Amino acid sequence: MIQRLHRSDLGNSLRTLMENDPAFRPVAYFSMEVGLKESIPTYSGGLGVLAGDILKSAADLGVPMAGVTLLYKKGYFVQEFNQEDWQKEKPVVWDPSKEMTLLPNTVSITIQGREIQIRAWVYECIGATGYPLPIYFLDTDFEPNHPDDRKLCWYLYGGDNRYRLCQEFILGVGGLRMLRALGYMNIDTFHLNEGHAGFLTLELMRELGYYDPDRIREQVVFTTHTPVPAGHDYFEFGMIDDVFPADAKATIHRMLPDRPGVSMTELGLRYSRYVNGVAKKHAEVSNDMFKMETVDWITNGIHPTTWISSGMRKLYNKHIPGWELDPGRLVQALTIPNEEVWAAHQASKMRLFARVLETNGVQLDPDVLTIGFARRAATYKRADLLLTDVARLKKIAGNKKVQFIFAGKSHPHDDGGKKLLQRIRKAAKELENDVVIVFIDNYNMEIASLLTQGVDLWLNTPVRPREASGTSGMKCAMNGIMNFSVLDGWWIEGWIEDVTGWSIGPEPTETSANAHYDENLDAVDLYEKLETKITTNGLT
Ligand SMILES: *Cc1c(COP(=O)(O)O)cnc(C)c1O
Repeated sequence: MIQRLHRSDLGNSLRTLMENDPAFRPVAYFSMEVGLKESIPTYSGGLGVLAGDILKSAADLGVPMAGVTLLYKKGYFVQEFNQEDWQKEKPVVWDPSKEMTLLPNTVSITIQGREIQIRAWVYECIGATGYPLPIYFLDTDFEPNHPDDRKLCWYLYGGDNRYRLCQEFILGVGGLRMLRALGYMNIDTFHLNEGHAGFLTLELMRELGYYDPDRIREQVVFTTHTPVPAGHDYFEFGMIDDVFPADAKATIHRMLPDRPGVSMTELGLRYSRYVNGVAKKHAEVSNDMFKMETVDWITNGIHPTTWISSGMRKLYNKHIPGWELDPGRLVQALTIPNEEVWAAHQASKMRLFARVLETNGVQLDPDVLTIGFARRAATYKRADLLLTDVARLKKIAGNKKVQFIFAGKSHPHDDGGKKLLQRIRKAAKELENDVVIVFIDNYNMEIASLLTQGVDLWLNTPVRPREASGTSGMKCAMNGIMNFSVLDGWWIEGWIEDVTGWSIGPEPTETSANAHYDENLDAVDLYEKLETKITTNGLT
Protein backbone atom coordinates (compact mmCIF):
# COMPACT_ATOMS: atom_id res chain seq x y z
CA MET A 1 0.00 0.00 0.00
CA ILE A 2 1.34 3.40 -0.94
CA GLN A 3 1.41 5.77 1.98
CA ARG A 4 0.35 9.38 1.46
CA LEU A 5 2.64 12.05 2.80
CA HIS A 6 1.75 13.69 6.08
CA ARG A 7 1.39 17.43 6.25
CA SER A 8 4.67 17.62 8.14
CA ASP A 9 6.41 15.85 5.24
CA LEU A 10 5.32 18.38 2.67
CA GLY A 11 8.13 20.58 1.57
CA ASN A 12 10.63 17.78 2.08
CA SER A 13 12.16 16.21 -0.98
CA LEU A 14 11.55 12.55 -1.71
CA ARG A 15 15.24 11.91 -1.12
CA THR A 16 15.14 13.41 2.37
CA LEU A 17 12.08 11.33 3.18
CA MET A 18 13.75 8.15 1.93
CA GLU A 19 16.90 8.87 3.92
CA ASN A 20 14.94 9.46 7.11
CA ASP A 21 12.77 6.38 6.76
CA PRO A 22 14.23 3.33 5.00
CA ALA A 23 10.77 1.71 4.90
CA PHE A 24 9.43 4.57 2.82
CA ARG A 25 8.22 3.20 -0.52
CA PRO A 26 7.62 5.56 -3.42
CA VAL A 27 6.16 4.98 -6.88
CA ALA A 28 8.31 5.36 -10.00
CA TYR A 29 6.33 6.61 -13.00
CA PHE A 30 7.95 5.95 -16.38
CA SER A 31 6.81 7.72 -19.53
CA MET A 32 8.43 8.16 -22.95
CA GLU A 33 7.15 11.72 -23.00
CA VAL A 34 6.20 14.18 -20.29
CA GLY A 35 4.43 17.47 -21.01
CA LEU A 36 4.68 19.93 -18.12
CA LYS A 37 4.64 23.27 -19.93
CA GLU A 38 5.40 24.59 -23.40
CA SER A 39 8.91 25.71 -22.47
CA ILE A 40 9.91 22.06 -21.86
CA PRO A 41 9.21 20.62 -25.33
CA THR A 42 9.52 16.94 -24.40
CA TYR A 43 5.99 15.89 -25.44
CA SER A 44 4.09 15.38 -28.65
CA GLY A 45 0.48 15.07 -27.53
CA GLY A 46 -2.02 13.49 -25.21
CA LEU A 47 0.22 10.77 -23.79
CA GLY A 48 2.83 13.26 -22.61
CA VAL A 49 0.40 15.91 -21.44
CA LEU A 50 -1.47 13.29 -19.45
CA ALA A 51 1.81 12.11 -17.88
CA GLY A 52 2.53 15.69 -16.85
CA ASP A 53 -0.96 16.10 -15.43
CA ILE A 54 -0.66 12.87 -13.42
CA LEU A 55 2.68 13.93 -11.95
CA LYS A 56 1.31 17.37 -11.09
CA SER A 57 -1.75 15.83 -9.46
CA ALA A 58 0.42 13.42 -7.48
CA ALA A 59 2.40 16.42 -6.23
CA ASP A 60 -0.83 18.15 -5.17
CA LEU A 61 -2.07 15.04 -3.37
CA GLY A 62 1.24 14.32 -1.69
CA VAL A 63 1.63 10.92 -3.34
CA PRO A 64 5.30 9.98 -3.09
CA MET A 65 6.17 9.55 -6.74
CA ALA A 66 9.14 10.16 -9.01
CA GLY A 67 8.86 10.58 -12.78
CA VAL A 68 11.36 9.19 -15.30
CA THR A 69 11.56 10.21 -18.95
CA LEU A 70 14.09 11.25 -21.61
CA LEU A 71 15.52 14.70 -22.23
CA TYR A 72 14.86 15.55 -25.86
CA LYS A 73 17.39 18.25 -26.63
CA LYS A 74 15.84 18.92 -30.03
CA GLY A 75 12.36 18.64 -28.58
CA TYR A 76 9.46 17.44 -30.67
CA PHE A 77 9.51 20.12 -33.37
CA VAL A 78 8.45 23.61 -34.38
CA GLN A 79 5.74 23.42 -37.01
CA GLU A 80 5.96 25.51 -40.18
CA PHE A 81 4.23 25.30 -43.55
CA ASN A 82 5.57 25.84 -47.06
CA GLN A 83 3.78 27.47 -50.02
CA GLU A 84 1.87 24.24 -50.67
CA ASP A 85 0.63 24.16 -47.08
CA TRP A 86 2.82 21.13 -46.42
CA GLN A 87 4.07 20.79 -42.84
CA LYS A 88 7.81 21.29 -42.29
CA GLU A 89 9.53 20.45 -39.02
CA LYS A 90 12.22 22.55 -37.42
CA PRO A 91 14.16 21.44 -34.34
CA VAL A 92 13.23 23.24 -31.16
CA VAL A 93 16.02 25.19 -29.57
CA TRP A 94 15.78 25.05 -25.81
CA ASP A 95 18.18 25.13 -22.92
CA PRO A 96 17.50 22.47 -20.26
CA SER A 97 19.64 24.33 -17.73
CA LYS A 98 17.05 27.12 -17.68
CA GLU A 99 14.31 24.69 -16.66
CA MET A 100 15.99 21.99 -14.56
CA THR A 101 19.08 21.01 -12.63
CA LEU A 102 21.79 18.64 -13.79
CA LEU A 103 22.61 15.97 -11.21
CA PRO A 104 26.18 14.74 -10.64
CA ASN A 105 25.27 11.03 -10.84
CA THR A 106 25.98 8.91 -13.91
CA VAL A 107 25.15 5.30 -14.71
CA SER A 108 26.17 3.22 -17.68
CA ILE A 109 24.50 0.74 -20.00
CA THR A 110 25.71 -1.16 -23.04
CA ILE A 111 23.92 -0.71 -26.36
CA GLN A 112 25.12 -1.95 -29.75
CA GLY A 113 28.31 -3.19 -28.10
CA ARG A 114 29.27 0.23 -26.75
CA GLU A 115 29.14 1.44 -23.20
CA ILE A 116 27.07 4.60 -22.81
CA GLN A 117 27.04 6.97 -19.86
CA ILE A 118 23.68 8.34 -18.79
CA ARG A 119 23.12 11.38 -16.63
CA ALA A 120 19.90 12.97 -15.38
CA TRP A 121 18.37 16.40 -15.03
CA VAL A 122 15.80 16.91 -12.33
CA TYR A 123 12.73 19.10 -12.53
CA GLU A 124 10.84 19.61 -9.31
CA CYS A 125 7.13 19.83 -9.75
CA ILE A 126 5.76 21.78 -6.78
CA GLY A 127 2.35 20.63 -5.58
CA ALA A 128 -0.45 22.83 -4.29
CA THR A 129 0.74 22.39 -0.71
CA GLY A 130 4.41 22.83 -1.54
CA TYR A 131 5.52 19.22 -1.92
CA PRO A 132 8.28 18.94 -4.55
CA LEU A 133 7.86 15.90 -6.81
CA PRO A 134 11.02 15.06 -8.78
CA ILE A 135 10.97 14.22 -12.48
CA TYR A 136 14.20 12.85 -13.94
CA PHE A 137 15.07 13.53 -17.56
CA LEU A 138 17.73 11.09 -18.84
CA ASP A 139 20.43 12.43 -21.14
CA THR A 140 23.33 10.87 -23.08
CA ASP A 141 24.61 13.99 -24.83
CA PHE A 142 27.96 14.45 -23.08
CA GLU A 143 31.61 13.35 -23.10
CA PRO A 144 32.92 10.64 -23.32
CA ASN A 145 29.95 9.15 -25.20
CA HIS A 146 30.39 8.31 -28.89
CA PRO A 147 28.92 11.06 -31.14
CA ASP A 148 26.16 8.69 -32.36
CA ASP A 149 25.23 7.76 -28.80
CA ARG A 150 25.11 11.41 -27.78
CA LYS A 151 22.25 11.86 -30.23
CA LEU A 152 20.16 9.04 -28.81
CA CYS A 153 18.06 11.31 -26.63
CA TRP A 154 17.79 14.21 -29.07
CA TYR A 155 14.51 13.54 -30.83
CA LEU A 156 11.10 12.48 -29.62
CA TYR A 157 9.68 10.11 -32.26
CA GLY A 158 12.39 11.33 -34.64
CA GLY A 159 14.51 8.38 -35.73
CA ASP A 160 13.89 4.92 -37.16
CA ASN A 161 12.81 1.80 -35.27
CA ARG A 162 16.35 1.01 -34.18
CA TYR A 163 16.80 4.51 -32.72
CA ARG A 164 13.54 3.99 -30.91
CA LEU A 165 14.66 0.62 -29.54
CA CYS A 166 17.81 2.24 -28.17
CA GLN A 167 15.74 5.01 -26.59
CA GLU A 168 13.41 2.53 -24.94
CA PHE A 169 16.35 0.55 -23.57
CA ILE A 170 17.77 3.76 -22.13
CA LEU A 171 14.41 4.69 -20.61
CA GLY A 172 13.63 1.29 -19.05
CA VAL A 173 17.04 -0.07 -18.07
CA GLY A 174 18.96 3.20 -17.79
CA GLY A 175 16.06 4.82 -15.96
CA LEU A 176 15.94 2.14 -13.28
CA ARG A 177 19.73 2.20 -12.85
CA MET A 178 19.56 5.96 -12.45
CA LEU A 179 16.87 5.70 -9.77
CA ARG A 180 19.03 3.22 -7.86
CA ALA A 181 22.05 5.52 -8.18
CA LEU A 182 19.92 8.32 -6.76
CA GLY A 183 19.07 6.23 -3.71
CA TYR A 184 15.67 4.79 -4.65
CA MET A 185 16.18 1.34 -3.17
CA ASN A 186 12.63 0.71 -1.91
CA ILE A 187 10.38 1.42 -4.85
CA ASP A 188 6.91 0.05 -4.18
CA THR A 189 5.53 0.19 -7.71
CA PHE A 190 6.84 0.86 -11.19
CA HIS A 191 4.13 2.44 -13.29
CA LEU A 192 4.56 2.07 -17.06
CA ASN A 193 2.67 4.85 -18.81
CA GLU A 194 2.26 2.95 -22.12
CA GLY A 195 4.65 0.11 -22.96
CA HIS A 196 7.74 2.12 -23.92
CA ALA A 197 9.58 1.59 -20.64
CA GLY A 198 8.80 -2.15 -20.50
CA PHE A 199 12.47 -3.14 -20.67
CA LEU A 200 12.77 -2.11 -17.05
CA THR A 201 11.47 -5.61 -16.33
CA LEU A 202 14.77 -6.95 -17.70
CA GLU A 203 16.70 -4.84 -15.24
CA LEU A 204 14.45 -5.92 -12.38
CA MET A 205 15.18 -9.53 -13.33
CA ARG A 206 18.92 -8.84 -13.46
CA GLU A 207 18.79 -7.24 -10.00
CA LEU A 208 16.92 -10.25 -8.70
CA GLY A 209 19.72 -12.52 -9.89
CA TYR A 210 17.48 -15.40 -10.92
CA TYR A 211 14.49 -15.91 -13.20
CA ASP A 212 11.20 -15.37 -11.40
CA PRO A 213 8.49 -13.59 -13.41
CA ASP A 214 6.11 -13.42 -10.46
CA ARG A 215 8.54 -11.33 -8.44
CA ILE A 216 8.70 -8.88 -11.34
CA ARG A 217 4.93 -8.78 -11.85
CA GLU A 218 4.36 -7.88 -8.20
CA GLN A 219 6.22 -4.63 -8.72
CA VAL A 220 4.84 -3.38 -12.03
CA VAL A 221 1.58 -1.77 -13.17
CA PHE A 222 0.83 -0.86 -16.77
CA THR A 223 -1.45 1.69 -18.41
CA THR A 224 -2.23 0.93 -22.04
CA HIS A 225 -3.25 3.85 -24.26
CA THR A 226 -3.62 2.56 -27.78
CA PRO A 227 -6.78 0.79 -28.91
CA VAL A 228 -5.32 -0.65 -32.14
CA PRO A 229 -2.49 -3.17 -32.60
CA ALA A 230 -0.76 -0.99 -35.23
CA GLY A 231 -0.20 1.65 -32.58
CA HIS A 232 1.96 -0.62 -30.46
CA ASP A 233 5.76 -0.57 -30.63
CA TYR A 234 7.19 -3.76 -32.05
CA PHE A 235 10.83 -4.84 -32.39
CA GLU A 236 12.08 -7.92 -34.28
CA PHE A 237 14.40 -10.15 -32.31
CA GLY A 238 16.99 -9.73 -35.09
CA MET A 239 17.32 -6.09 -34.18
CA ILE A 240 17.10 -6.70 -30.46
CA ASP A 241 19.92 -9.26 -30.67
CA ASP A 242 22.01 -6.63 -32.38
CA VAL A 243 21.31 -3.85 -29.91
CA PHE A 244 21.06 -5.51 -26.48
CA PRO A 245 23.93 -6.76 -24.29
CA ALA A 246 24.12 -10.53 -23.77
CA ASP A 247 22.31 -10.77 -20.42
CA ALA A 248 19.36 -8.61 -21.45
CA LYS A 249 19.13 -10.53 -24.72
CA ALA A 250 18.94 -13.87 -22.93
CA THR A 251 16.29 -12.59 -20.52
CA ILE A 252 13.99 -11.09 -23.13
CA HIS A 253 14.08 -14.30 -25.20
CA ARG A 254 13.10 -16.20 -22.10
CA MET A 255 10.33 -13.77 -21.19
CA LEU A 256 8.66 -13.87 -24.62
CA PRO A 257 9.47 -17.28 -26.09
CA ASP A 258 8.04 -18.49 -29.41
CA ARG A 259 7.71 -14.98 -30.74
CA PRO A 260 9.46 -13.39 -33.73
CA GLY A 261 9.88 -10.16 -31.80
CA VAL A 262 8.80 -8.04 -28.88
CA SER A 263 5.55 -6.13 -28.69
CA MET A 264 6.03 -3.64 -25.89
CA THR A 265 2.34 -3.88 -25.09
CA GLU A 266 2.55 -7.65 -24.73
CA LEU A 267 5.56 -7.23 -22.48
CA GLY A 268 3.56 -4.80 -20.33
CA LEU A 269 0.48 -7.03 -20.25
CA ARG A 270 2.38 -10.17 -19.28
CA TYR A 271 4.70 -8.71 -16.70
CA SER A 272 2.42 -6.42 -14.68
CA ARG A 273 0.23 -7.16 -11.69
CA TYR A 274 -2.40 -4.70 -12.88
CA VAL A 275 -3.32 -3.25 -16.26
CA ASN A 276 -5.70 -0.42 -17.01
CA GLY A 277 -7.13 1.30 -20.04
CA VAL A 278 -7.85 5.03 -20.04
CA ALA A 279 -11.66 5.03 -20.33
CA LYS A 280 -14.40 2.46 -19.75
CA LYS A 281 -14.88 1.87 -23.45
CA HIS A 282 -11.15 1.63 -24.02
CA ALA A 283 -10.85 -1.20 -21.49
CA GLU A 284 -13.59 -3.11 -23.33
CA VAL A 285 -11.83 -2.59 -26.63
CA SER A 286 -8.48 -3.62 -25.16
CA ASN A 287 -9.85 -6.81 -23.61
CA ASP A 288 -11.35 -7.64 -26.96
CA MET A 289 -8.15 -6.97 -28.82
CA PHE A 290 -5.83 -8.76 -26.41
CA LYS A 291 -8.32 -11.61 -25.83
CA MET A 292 -8.19 -10.89 -22.11
CA GLU A 293 -10.63 -9.98 -19.40
CA THR A 294 -8.25 -8.40 -17.01
CA VAL A 295 -7.78 -4.91 -18.38
CA ASP A 296 -9.43 -2.59 -15.88
CA TRP A 297 -10.28 1.01 -16.56
CA ILE A 298 -9.41 4.29 -14.94
CA THR A 299 -10.73 7.12 -17.04
CA ASN A 300 -8.09 9.77 -17.70
CA GLY A 301 -8.39 13.09 -15.99
CA ILE A 302 -6.68 16.41 -16.31
CA HIS A 303 -4.86 18.61 -13.82
CA PRO A 304 -7.42 21.34 -13.16
CA THR A 305 -5.10 24.15 -12.10
CA THR A 306 -3.06 23.72 -15.28
CA TRP A 307 -6.04 23.96 -17.60
CA ILE A 308 -8.64 26.28 -16.17
CA SER A 309 -8.64 29.96 -17.07
CA SER A 310 -7.83 32.68 -14.57
CA GLY A 311 -11.47 33.78 -14.68
CA MET A 312 -12.82 30.30 -13.92
CA ARG A 313 -10.25 29.91 -11.16
CA LYS A 314 -11.63 33.03 -9.47
CA LEU A 315 -15.17 31.69 -9.75
CA TYR A 316 -14.21 28.32 -8.32
CA ASN A 317 -12.31 30.01 -5.48
CA LYS A 318 -15.33 32.13 -4.70
CA HIS A 319 -18.08 29.52 -4.98
CA ILE A 320 -16.30 26.24 -4.21
CA PRO A 321 -13.60 26.93 -1.63
CA GLY A 322 -11.15 24.06 -1.22
CA TRP A 323 -11.70 22.72 -4.74
CA GLU A 324 -8.00 22.87 -5.55
CA LEU A 325 -7.08 20.09 -3.17
CA ASP A 326 -10.36 18.26 -3.69
CA PRO A 327 -11.35 18.65 -7.35
CA GLY A 328 -14.31 16.30 -6.77
CA ARG A 329 -16.06 19.34 -5.32
CA LEU A 330 -16.26 20.80 -8.81
CA VAL A 331 -19.61 19.02 -9.15
CA GLN A 332 -20.91 22.07 -7.29
CA ALA A 333 -20.01 24.21 -10.30
CA LEU A 334 -23.65 24.02 -11.39
CA THR A 335 -24.49 26.46 -8.60
CA ILE A 336 -22.33 29.22 -10.10
CA PRO A 337 -24.61 31.82 -11.73
CA ASN A 338 -24.63 31.62 -15.53
CA GLU A 339 -23.80 35.31 -15.97
CA GLU A 340 -20.59 34.89 -13.99
CA VAL A 341 -19.52 31.87 -16.06
CA TRP A 342 -20.39 33.73 -19.24
CA ALA A 343 -18.33 36.77 -18.23
CA ALA A 344 -15.31 34.58 -17.44
CA HIS A 345 -15.78 32.80 -20.74
CA GLN A 346 -15.97 36.04 -22.72
CA ALA A 347 -12.68 37.15 -21.18
CA SER A 348 -11.02 33.87 -22.27
CA LYS A 349 -12.51 34.25 -25.71
CA MET A 350 -10.97 37.73 -26.02
CA ARG A 351 -7.57 36.35 -25.05
CA LEU A 352 -7.85 33.67 -27.74
CA PHE A 353 -8.99 36.18 -30.35
CA ALA A 354 -6.16 38.53 -29.47
CA ARG A 355 -3.75 35.68 -30.18
CA VAL A 356 -5.45 34.88 -33.49
CA LEU A 357 -5.19 38.52 -34.51
CA GLU A 358 -1.52 38.51 -33.60
CA THR A 359 -0.56 35.26 -35.33
CA ASN A 360 -3.03 35.09 -38.23
CA GLY A 361 -3.94 38.72 -38.74
CA VAL A 362 -7.61 37.74 -38.62
CA GLN A 363 -10.09 39.65 -36.49
CA LEU A 364 -12.67 37.19 -35.23
CA ASP A 365 -16.06 38.36 -34.06
CA PRO A 366 -16.79 37.60 -30.39
CA ASP A 367 -20.52 37.46 -31.07
CA VAL A 368 -20.16 34.58 -33.52
CA LEU A 369 -20.35 30.96 -32.34
CA THR A 370 -16.73 29.75 -32.34
CA ILE A 371 -15.95 26.07 -32.71
CA GLY A 372 -12.50 24.68 -31.92
CA PHE A 373 -10.74 21.57 -33.12
CA ALA A 374 -7.17 20.90 -32.05
CA ARG A 375 -5.10 17.82 -31.38
CA ARG A 376 -2.43 15.67 -32.99
CA ALA A 377 -3.25 15.54 -36.69
CA ALA A 378 -3.46 11.74 -36.82
CA THR A 379 -5.70 10.50 -39.61
CA TYR A 380 -8.04 8.66 -37.24
CA LYS A 381 -8.95 11.98 -35.64
CA ARG A 382 -10.53 13.02 -38.97
CA ALA A 383 -9.93 16.75 -38.63
CA ASP A 384 -11.49 17.12 -42.09
CA LEU A 385 -14.81 15.41 -41.36
CA LEU A 386 -16.31 18.88 -41.20
CA LEU A 387 -15.29 19.40 -44.84
CA THR A 388 -17.03 16.27 -46.14
CA ASP A 389 -19.79 18.34 -47.79
CA VAL A 390 -18.53 21.86 -48.34
CA ALA A 391 -21.77 23.11 -49.89
CA ARG A 392 -23.69 22.03 -46.83
CA LEU A 393 -21.12 23.56 -44.54
CA LYS A 394 -21.45 26.86 -46.39
CA LYS A 395 -25.21 26.75 -45.99
CA ILE A 396 -25.01 26.10 -42.26
CA ALA A 397 -21.99 28.13 -41.25
CA GLY A 398 -21.80 30.75 -44.00
CA ASN A 399 -22.75 34.37 -43.53
CA LYS A 400 -20.82 34.54 -40.28
CA LYS A 401 -23.06 32.08 -38.47
CA VAL A 402 -20.16 29.99 -37.20
CA GLN A 403 -16.39 30.43 -37.20
CA PHE A 404 -13.80 27.67 -36.75
CA ILE A 405 -10.34 27.56 -35.24
CA PHE A 406 -8.06 24.60 -36.01
CA ALA A 407 -4.62 23.64 -34.74
CA GLY A 408 -2.53 20.48 -34.65
CA LYS A 409 0.80 18.93 -35.51
CA SER A 410 1.27 15.87 -37.65
CA HIS A 411 3.90 13.30 -36.75
CA PRO A 412 6.97 14.02 -38.97
CA HIS A 413 6.66 10.64 -40.75
CA ASP A 414 2.88 10.70 -41.12
CA ASP A 415 2.08 11.89 -44.62
CA GLY A 416 -1.60 11.08 -44.09
CA GLY A 417 -1.69 13.52 -41.20
CA LYS A 418 0.14 16.13 -43.26
CA LYS A 419 -2.40 15.76 -46.05
CA LEU A 420 -5.16 16.41 -43.54
CA LEU A 421 -3.52 19.62 -42.42
CA GLN A 422 -2.99 20.66 -46.03
CA ARG A 423 -6.63 20.03 -46.83
CA ILE A 424 -7.83 22.15 -43.92
CA ARG A 425 -5.46 25.00 -44.69
CA LYS A 426 -6.43 25.01 -48.35
CA ALA A 427 -10.13 24.87 -47.50
CA ALA A 428 -9.66 27.79 -45.12
CA LYS A 429 -8.36 29.88 -48.03
CA GLU A 430 -10.97 28.68 -50.50
CA LEU A 431 -13.85 29.30 -48.12
CA GLU A 432 -12.47 32.62 -46.94
CA ASN A 433 -15.47 34.64 -48.11
CA ASP A 434 -18.07 32.17 -46.87
CA VAL A 435 -16.94 30.42 -43.73
CA VAL A 436 -14.23 31.76 -41.48
CA ILE A 437 -11.68 29.05 -40.66
CA VAL A 438 -8.37 29.94 -39.05
CA PHE A 439 -5.47 27.60 -38.48
CA ILE A 440 -3.06 28.43 -35.65
CA ASP A 441 0.44 27.05 -36.31
CA ASN A 442 2.58 25.11 -33.90
CA TYR A 443 0.04 23.58 -31.54
CA ASN A 444 1.47 23.23 -28.03
CA MET A 445 0.28 23.38 -24.45
CA GLU A 446 -0.05 27.16 -24.48
CA ILE A 447 -2.23 27.17 -27.59
CA ALA A 448 -4.18 24.23 -26.18
CA SER A 449 -4.91 26.36 -23.10
CA LEU A 450 -6.06 29.36 -25.10
CA LEU A 451 -8.32 27.19 -27.24
CA THR A 452 -9.85 25.00 -24.56
CA GLN A 453 -10.63 28.12 -22.52
CA GLY A 454 -11.73 30.44 -25.30
CA VAL A 455 -13.85 28.63 -27.89
CA ASP A 456 -17.62 28.20 -27.47
CA LEU A 457 -17.82 24.58 -28.53
CA TRP A 458 -15.25 21.80 -28.81
CA LEU A 459 -15.42 19.46 -31.78
CA ASN A 460 -13.97 15.94 -31.82
CA THR A 461 -14.53 13.49 -34.65
CA PRO A 462 -12.36 10.38 -34.17
CA VAL A 463 -13.01 7.08 -35.89
CA ARG A 464 -14.53 4.71 -33.32
CA PRO A 465 -13.01 3.08 -31.29
CA ARG A 466 -9.70 4.83 -31.84
CA GLU A 467 -10.00 7.60 -29.26
CA ALA A 468 -8.74 5.75 -26.19
CA SER A 469 -9.73 8.66 -23.96
CA GLY A 470 -9.17 12.15 -25.39
CA THR A 471 -8.45 14.81 -22.84
CA SER A 472 -8.83 18.18 -24.51
CA GLY A 473 -12.61 17.89 -24.24
CA MET A 474 -12.20 17.59 -20.46
CA LYS A 475 -10.11 20.76 -20.41
CA CYS A 476 -13.06 22.48 -22.09
CA ALA A 477 -15.60 21.04 -19.68
CA MET A 478 -13.76 22.51 -16.69
CA ASN A 479 -13.89 25.86 -18.44
CA GLY A 480 -17.64 25.62 -18.86
CA ILE A 481 -17.43 24.78 -22.58
CA MET A 482 -19.66 22.16 -24.20
CA ASN A 483 -18.46 19.28 -26.37
CA PHE A 484 -19.70 18.15 -29.75
CA SER A 485 -18.15 14.78 -30.30
CA VAL A 486 -18.27 11.25 -31.63
CA LEU A 487 -19.19 8.88 -28.79
CA ASP A 488 -15.82 7.39 -28.05
CA GLY A 489 -13.28 7.45 -25.22
CA TRP A 490 -14.11 9.60 -22.18
CA TRP A 491 -17.01 11.35 -23.91
CA ILE A 492 -19.25 8.29 -23.59
CA GLU A 493 -19.00 8.85 -19.84
CA GLY A 494 -19.23 12.66 -19.93
CA TRP A 495 -22.00 13.02 -22.48
CA ILE A 496 -25.51 14.16 -21.53
CA GLU A 497 -27.26 15.22 -24.73
CA ASP A 498 -28.26 18.90 -24.77
CA VAL A 499 -26.68 19.39 -21.33
CA THR A 500 -22.93 18.73 -21.48
CA GLY A 501 -22.97 18.89 -25.26
CA TRP A 502 -23.99 16.81 -28.24
CA SER A 503 -23.01 13.47 -29.71
CA ILE A 504 -22.08 12.79 -33.32
CA GLY A 505 -23.07 9.49 -34.91
CA PRO A 506 -24.45 6.32 -33.34
CA GLU A 507 -24.43 5.41 -29.69
CA PRO A 508 -21.78 2.93 -28.62
CA THR A 509 -22.76 -0.71 -28.43
CA GLU A 510 -21.66 -3.11 -25.76
CA THR A 511 -18.56 -4.42 -27.51
CA SER A 512 -16.16 -3.01 -29.98
CA ALA A 513 -17.46 -5.35 -32.67
CA ASN A 514 -19.23 -2.40 -34.27
CA ALA A 515 -15.94 -0.90 -35.42
CA HIS A 516 -17.39 -1.25 -38.91
CA TYR A 517 -19.97 1.36 -39.72
CA ASP A 518 -20.58 3.94 -42.38
CA GLU A 519 -18.30 6.82 -41.52
CA ASN A 520 -20.18 9.19 -43.76
CA LEU A 521 -23.13 8.92 -41.42
CA ASP A 522 -21.04 10.78 -38.86
CA ALA A 523 -20.67 13.70 -41.26
CA VAL A 524 -24.40 13.73 -41.95
CA ASP A 525 -25.18 13.72 -38.25
CA LEU A 526 -22.60 16.44 -37.63
CA TYR A 527 -24.27 18.78 -40.15
CA GLU A 528 -27.72 17.87 -38.96
CA LYS A 529 -27.05 18.74 -35.33
CA LEU A 530 -25.03 21.80 -36.19
CA GLU A 531 -27.95 23.09 -38.22
CA THR A 532 -30.95 22.08 -36.15
CA LYS A 533 -29.65 22.12 -32.58
CA ILE A 534 -26.47 24.07 -32.23
CA THR A 535 -26.81 27.10 -34.45
CA THR A 536 -30.54 27.53 -34.00
CA ASN A 537 -30.84 27.69 -30.23
CA GLY A 538 -27.18 28.19 -29.57
CA LEU A 539 -25.26 31.39 -29.21
CA THR A 540 -26.00 33.03 -32.53
C1 LIG B 1 -4.47 18.11 -24.11
C2 LIG B 1 -3.51 18.07 -25.22
C3 LIG B 1 -3.52 17.01 -26.13
C4 LIG B 1 -4.47 15.85 -26.02
O1 LIG B 1 -5.62 16.10 -26.74
P1 LIG B 1 -6.66 14.94 -27.10
O2 LIG B 1 -7.98 15.58 -26.96
O3 LIG B 1 -6.46 13.85 -26.10
O4 LIG B 1 -6.36 14.54 -28.47
C5 LIG B 1 -2.62 17.02 -27.18
N1 LIG B 1 -1.74 18.02 -27.33
C6 LIG B 1 -1.70 19.08 -26.48
C7 LIG B 1 -0.69 20.15 -26.71
C8 LIG B 1 -2.57 19.13 -25.40
O5 LIG B 1 -2.51 20.16 -24.55
